[in-house]
Amino acid sequence: MLHDEGTTRDRASGLADDVLASLRDDALADLPRTAALRHALHRVPERGLDLPRTQQLVLDALADLGLEVSTGRALSSVTAVLRGARPGPAVLLRGDMDALPVTERTDEPFTSEHEGVMHACGHDLHVAGLVGAARLLATRREQIAGPVVLMFQPGEEGYHGARLMIEEGVLEAAGTPVVAAYGVHVMSSTLPAGVVASRAGTFMAASDTVRVTVEGRGGHGSKPYLAADPVPVAAEMVLALQAMVTRQFDVFDPVVVTVGRVEAGTKDNIIPDTAYLEATIRTFSPATHAAVPERIARLCEHVAAAHGLSATVEYTRGYPVTENDAGEVARARRLTQGLYGDAGWVEADVPVPGAEDFSYVLQQVPGAFVFVGATATGLDPADAPYNHSPRARFADAALAPSAAVLAALALDRLAQDAG
Ligand SMILES: [Zn+2]
Repeated sequence: MLHDEGTTRDRASGLADDVLASLRDDALADLPRTAALRHALHRVPERGLDLPRTQQLVLDALADLGLEVSTGRALSSVTAVLRGARPGPAVLLRGDMDALPVTERTDEPFTSEHEGVMHACGHDLHVAGLVGAARLLATRREQIAGPVVLMFQPGEEGYHGARLMIEEGVLEAAGTPVVAAYGVHVMSSTLPAGVVASRAGTFMAASDTVRVTVEGRGGHGSKPYLAADPVPVAAEMVLALQAMVTRQFDVFDPVVVTVGRVEAGTKDNIIPDTAYLEATIRTFSPATHAAVPERIARLCEHVAAAHGLSATVEYTRGYPVTENDAGEVARARRLTQGLYGDAGWVEADVPVPGAEDFSYVLQQVPGAFVFVGATATGLDPADAPYNHSPRARFADAALAPSAAVLAALALDRLAQDAG
């Protein structure tokens, strides 16, 4: 039934129009429930890898869907396996669950009750959208050939939660390795509510951190020639890093270096022993991501040496480049347009310099990560408060397309191998 040559929009495979229409209608009909769950999650935001209240809300929401549910050991993750009526390969759908150290300044009726913590990146919608997708799939079990792994992940905001869940076996949770993976991220601005966007290849940047300590020798500010002043050396590094970006890397495979922290000294007439820099490094290809640490270390160490000082460079890897599979993005585009018409999809012309730990999953299996617009009613996507802002508001209207697109991706991918 899934494979109907006569009514598919695209080539020889794909979900029939009536299947997509029922997903769209059912997701919309379920919106009051997904929105209620989203509001409950939004009230009790939690940070990091340990999200006990969030985890409990997820477990409660999944309780009567007939899933195989397990929880994480090193983190409060939830992995749920939905088995189709027929055997087939496994696919994975992911929703991250954690919040941010932000004090909420929206006037939403379901505003955060946890002081200093807010779902300012919309991960509450990711959880509710994934539960919505689970409900859509649970009522279509007869049409599904293969298991669907639902990955509810803590610790996206810098805690490498996806990597930890991979280490705990989420990709093999169904007893067979997943062959494709999909995830969504909602955006409180830039995209109208409900519009889906992505691109093939690099979709989001890799994000690393470098910490540089310039080691000099302190002394009196009036006699710098008797000291070894680390401050002008650190200042030279800040500028030299910008020259490195444009002189050593392809302008079409760019590097972003932002020195966000500079620290040295205590008083105007005291030369300190050390100066300290901290920078974020964004790269957009695995090759550049691999090359950049050595270049930065060389530059900083040699700038220091040129002045007779030394530098210690500590380079910390953050999240890898998020790379979308071209075929899987084509699938997401076709399904989104089938669900919501051509206007429902926007092709992202450039990658986003933010980073995302779903990249760890996409390093292991082909898949697609897509954005879903969630600009609140009455706001302009061009200037609405962006994700991570204390004023960021996310429209519930993004929940139905999040659920429908995720469910459609799983059904369509599994139908492909069912033939
Ligand atoms: Zn996020």
